[in-house]
Amino acid sequence: MRHYDVILVGGGLAGLTAAIDLSLKGHRVLVFEKNTYPHHKVCGEYVSNEILPYLNGLGVFLKEENAVTIDSLTLSTVQGKRLETMLPLGGKGISRYAFDNLLYQRAVQVGADFQFQIVTTIGFEDPVFKVVTDNNQTYTSHLVVGAYGKRSGLDKSLNRGFASKKSSWLAVKAHYHYDKFPEHSVALHNFKGGYGGLSKTETGAVNFCYLASYASFQKEKNIESFNANVVSKNPFLREFLKTANPIFEQPLTIAQISFHPKKAVDNHILMCGDTAGLIHPLCGNGMAMAIHSAKIAADLIADFLNKDNQQRAQLENDYQMQWNRHFKRRLWMGGRLQSLLLHPGMSTIALSVMITQPRLLQKLIKGTHGKPIQ
Ligand SMILES: Cc1cc2nc3c(=O)[nH]c(=O)nc-3n(C[C@H](O)[C@H](O)[C@H](O)COP(=O)(O)OP(=O)(O)OC[C@H]3O[C@@H](n4cnc5c(N)ncnc54)[C@H](O)[C@@H]3O)c2cc1C
Repeated sequence: MRHYDVILVGGGLAGLTAAIDLSLKGHRVLVFEKNTYPHHKVCGEYVSNEILPYLNGLGVFLKEENAVTIDSLTLSTVQGKRLETMLPLGGKGISRYAFDNLLYQRAVQVGADFQFQIVTTIGFEDPVFKVVTDNNQTYTSHLVVGAYGKRSGLDKSLNRGFASKKSSWLAVKAHYHYDKFPEHSVALHNFKGGYGGLSKTETGAVNFCYLASYASFQKEKNIESFNANVVSKNPFLREFLKTANPIFEQPLTIAQISFHPKKAVDNHILMCGDTAGLIHPLCGNGMAMAIHSAKIAADLIADFLNKDNQQRAQLENDYQMQWNRHFKRRLWMGGRLQSLLLHPGMSTIALSVMITQPRLLQKLIKGTHGKPIQ
């Protein structure tokens, strides 16, 4: 049995960022991740610039990976009504294959330990956590950060309320060669029961990632017929799917995507990133929120570990409060926007209103994003 200051369960953006930050602050950390790096993930791969100053401070530089600068947004409805606007803060286009691997390399460099195993249970016997893996190894720590993403078997073993609820969303993603796609733009195109995002990544490939409801997907037999009969009803997506050349042999898919509310502190575990709450993907802010929540956790944890008279309840309370302050409103706003975009009649009306009042759209985008963090 090995003991650490902090165990991070999940080595995605949240877990890796917290591992780097805590290691740089002098703490012994262990990250559990079920997949080795690098690996592709289902994601729109547009990350808001708000996290760049903080990442640079951790010694992580997206420009060294040739991340693409993105400063404009195109929106379209199923009927092809289209709107273009500048993004108030902008972002970068970078694949998760490159991004997660970049963070992993940095985490190793600054001394974080890694175990490529699946965590099956996390138990707490004050003052120690016991983390058990699928090959029956046990590790202990003062603190655990849950950064295992949207949904995992762990949610059931921790009795998290949303884990027993059905989720009605799935997502599909693949990279394509498509020279016609504008370099500095991210596009969000609507179709019946979902929407798809397009943007360039560091390799020049265009990432196409869409979210769709089961209700619309299950009427078709497979991705091919869904693309042909539903996604391609949008003229921009029809043109894209007709002319772009797929790079992946098969698209990646994920199911059971849950937007149900979650707790940011559960079973004494500080939850980061999607494990604490998933913002609707159309906001393009989930990655920044994952990284920002890791920063909040790392700052509070470092404070806690450096004090003699440690008050666990205070730490948990402070994290929950800060999480609510930074992210609760964004999640609410994301939910409202997704309902609007997926409403067949309302999305066209909303887009028409925004075309005549572009400042309204800028306000909505700002409502789902944060300010740059250091
Ligand atoms: C369709 C779609 C499109 C999106 N597009 C965008 C976008 O364009 N921009 C944006 O900012 N956000 C986007 N998001 C959101 C973004 O992908 C997430 O918010 C982000 O990945 C959260 O990072 P994370 O570290 O919390 O989780 P993840 O990146 O999912 O990492 C969790 C990690 O935990 C590991 N893990 C899980 N269970 C265990 C276990 N039991 N033991 C060990 N390891 C485990 C997993 O292997 C994984 O690597 C999108 C989301 C979806 C669904």
